Order: sequence, then C-alpha cells, then structure tokens
Amino acid sequence: MLYKRFCKQIELTLFVEDTDIDIMTRELLRETDKSSPMSFVSAGVLPLKLLQSKDAVVDGAIRPIHIQLIPTNRCNSGCSWCSCRRVDRKKEMRWAELQELLQYFRELGSKSITITGGGEPTLYPHFDEFLELAGDLGYDLGLVTNGLRWGKKEGELPANHRLTWVRMSIVDTQTGEYDSSRVRRVANRLPDVDMGISFTVPKDVSLKTASEICRIAEETPNITHIRFVENIVDFSGDAMDRVESRCRTISSKAIFQRRSAYSRGQSPCHISFLKPMIDVDGSVYPCCGVQYAGGGESQDLKMPQRFRMGHWTEFHRLNKFDGSVCNKCYYENYNNILSGMTRELTHKTFL
Ligand code: SF4
Ligand code: SF4
Repeated sequence: MLYKRFCKQIELTLFVEDTDIDIMTRELLRETDKSSPMSFVSAGVLPLKLLQSKDAVVDGAIRPIHIQLIPTNRCNSGCSWCSCRRVDRKKEMRWAELQELLQYFRELGSKSITITGGGEPTLYPHFDEFLELAGDLGYDLGLVTNGLRWGKKEGELPANHRLTWVRMSIVDTQTGEYDSSRVRRVANRLPDVDMGISFTVPKDVSLKTASEICRIAEETPNITHIRFVENIVDFSGDAMDRVESRCRTISSKAIFQRRSAYSRGQSPCHISFLKPMIDVDGSVYPCCGVQYAGGGESQDLKMPQRFRMGHWTEFHRLNKFDGSVCNKCYYENYNNILSGMTRELTHKTFL
C-alpha cells in the first residue's frame, strides 16, 4: 500500500511544481511517521526532478532552467488570502519586452516557464501570442490561473495545445456559493493538459465546496490532484484537520499542505539562479515566496524591493541572492541539494 502510494507520488512529480513536491514529501513522511521515521521513503524529501536533471548544473554553474514570470498584475478576483494584494494592479509587462525576455532566457538555457501572478495571467492582452511564441521557442509551459475567464464557456481552448499543466485556484473557499462546475468546464476545455486544483483553506472553510471539488476531481481524468493548502497570510487553525477528515475519503487525489514547517533562508540562495521570479516591471526576485519570506508582521504582500536582485536584462551577471535575510523559507531542500551539486567532490564513483 505504502509502496503503491510512493510510486503514485513519483509519477506526479514529473509535472507538478516544486511546492507540490513538498506536499508529497510531507504526505509520505506523514505516513511513515506512523511506522518508522527512518523508513526508506524519507528519500522522498529530496527534490527528485532536480536530482534527475542533467541541465540544471553544468560545470558547477546553475542554469535558469525554469523561469517564473508575472506578465500582468491585473486581476478579476479579490481573494482575502492573496499574497500579492498590495501590488499595483494596473501594471503589466510590455509585449515587446516580453518577446525579448523569452529569447534572452532561451539563450541562457531556460526550458520551462511558469506563468503566474501578481495577478490573473489570462488577462494579459497578448496572452495567446505569448503562449504561441514561447511554445515555438521550445519552452514547456505551466499556468497558474483562477479559471474565472475560462470557466464561463464550453469548447476547447487554444492553450490546450501549448500548456503542459495548469493549476487552477479556487477563489471562494468560504461562503459555500462557489460554482464548482467551473472546475469541470475548465478541465474539459483543456483535455490534454494536466490540471491541479489549489484550494486555500481559511479558518471558516466551506466543507461543502471542498467536498464538491473532490467529487468533480474524481470524475475528471485530467484533474491530477487537489492541493488543500493552509492560508499563508493567516494560519488556518484546525480548519485543515476538518478538511482532511472530510475529503480524504472522497478523493484519493486530495493532498494536504501545511505551511507551519519552514526554515530560515540560506546564503547563498542557489535557487535564485535555478528558477528566478520575474515581475511585471522586469525585476528579478530569488523565489516565488519573497512576498512572505520576511515572516510575521513583515509580510510584504507584494514583491519587496529589498529582495530585488536586478533587472532581467542583466541576469547573466547577477550574484546569487543572500537568503540569510529570509525568516521563512520553504525551499531548504532545493538549496541543500544545489549546494551539493555545485561543489567539487572527490571519489565520485563511490555512490
Ligand atoms: S486570483 Fe490570485 S492574484 Fe487574484 S486576488 Fe486571488 S490570489 Fe490574488
Ligand atoms: S525564501 Fe529566501 S532563501 Fe528561501 S528560496 Fe526564497 S529567497 Fe531563497
């Protein structure tokens, strides 16, 4: 049973984001904690995709294999847990600049892009052209969206041929009035895309909405998982326990990410070179968690200037970020492994 679950988790890691690996890791550890904390499945704590990548570190240098890009800050929702709620909603990247950026990072060895917010990426005026150009340049593409635009109609979307995965966020997880059929419609319009659901769990979570979405996920083949995640800007209390107890029996696709386990940041922060975050104004930031890396009262809820590494046009000559300023880091595993991968080792064949 445990072995089967482990294999399923490994399959999922082939396409989902790093944060999702952490979820799986925790899921695995949670199970193994019951038997033995030293069980072999604790190997799941390693970022598996990174260990298998032949391109991430070449001759000791980390390449920006995966860029995370915010094309627009515009949004058609107003989620209470939004970690970007203090951004300037009018800002977006010029299309001419975005085209140059795609070329530039391709030349640096980038292979994939997560299109994210900031805001709601599908509101970017050149969104379809963006997907076409990036796809033609050879990028693999993932998208974080709230699905509000795409969930209104039926019919296959052009993005179906360009995206590898989509993570759709549920914008109302409290009132019980969310139209859950929207999730099914978006999944049906992207039949060739692996679709994950992100469900933020607030203190007053709606178990009705959570259950409905689990049922839809069970019936919809291209929905790969539902990530129930604690509210990072206002911890969810015992709401996660209630959701887990209700949903675990409804869908085997449900996974539960608690955010209470984090570490202090490291210097240097290697991940800042592997998967930089590029904001609408072209600024480069070291990771997708800088809005809340300050922790406690100092959560910025926008990209904080003190974490800005430079402009994307100078990425090839930037220094790695000094992550020791971060109080809250969820990427310790990545940084530890990258630290090892960039170090010269002796006796290499004695694995
Ligand atoms: S959809 Fe995303 S960017 Fe928009 S308000 Fe909600 S969390 Fe923020
Ligand atoms: S939180 Fe800080 S140390 Fe951790 S990955 Fe982000 S920038 Fe690096």
